[in-house]
Amino acid sequence: MAAAMDRPAPDVTRFAPSPNGHLHLGHAFSAIVAHDLAAARGGRFLLRIEDIDGPRSRPELAEEFRADLAWLGLAFEEVPAQSTRLAAYAAAAERLKARGLLYPCTCTRSEIAAAGALEGSEGLIYPGTCKRRPPDPARAAAWRLDAEKALAETGPLVWEDALAGPQAVDLAGLGDVVLVRKDLPASYHLAVTLDDAADGVTLVTRGADLFAATHVHRTLQALLGLPVPRWHHHPLLLDAQGEKLAKRRGSPALATRRAAGEDGAMLARQLRLQQLVLGT
Ligand code: GLU
Ligand code: ZN
Repeated sequence: MAAAMDRPAPDVTRFAPSPNGHLHLGHAFSAIVAHDLAAARGGRFLLRIEDIDGPRSRPELAEEFRADLAWLGLAFEEVPAQSTRLAAYAAAAERLKARGLLYPCTCTRSEIAAAGALEGSEGLIYPGTCKRRPPDPARAAAWRLDAEKALAETGPLVWEDALAGPQAVDLAGLGDVVLVRKDLPASYHLAVTLDDAADGVTLVTRGADLFAATHVHRTLQALLGLPVPRWHHHPLLLDAQGEKLAKRRGSPALATRRAAGEDGAMLARQLRLQQLVLGT
């Protein structure tokens, strides 16, 4: 009995692809890491389709993704796609607005660049134009998190990465990020934070390219009273030139390899060896 109590509870992990392109090797790697971290201790591995990327989203790819995971030999439980959760996102955004933590912003990308925005860890840091003077109500507005006010409410926060250790929340490198898009009731940051909480994810497993975004997610958890998971940001799989594998550089789609009759379980074994090399 004592031994059972000492053992940490099994983790719930997830793979959360956006259906705006085929899955490639980098995705397979990410899914394997998440699957294996859950499976190692009898946990659950979830698939969540992040299909709210407006016109870039191609819902028909969801079926392809399921087939890709099955081909790799990864058993998963699917949770509802983001497009079914828009009301929950809108409700959370309203709560934050009511507390004065969001402000409307009508800036276009070029206006932000023209305002002399600095490059941050996730693209340009918003220079605060619409925070200083309320924007024209006739223009469509996104809503940004007022990082200064958020920090004043939450105080110092930390989050735990399984590989990198404890991290102090620092929003300076991201600035006032968009939580409600002009065309949608949520941005990636708001949707993913609410979903991971709703799905009971205890170990958020994803690529190191999303490491900085976690500062925002941890802040939102504190503001919205959500449970705090741990994170596992795995190193990205690189190609022979040392560059991140990306669709646009011609990395073959898993679906193409699958259709060509390649053995998915064998590919998964090869990727697990990569995992040993990368130390994930
Ligand atoms: N949907 C995101 C993507 O495909 C991943 C989100 C996440 O893992 O937090 O890049
Ligand atoms: Zn603005």
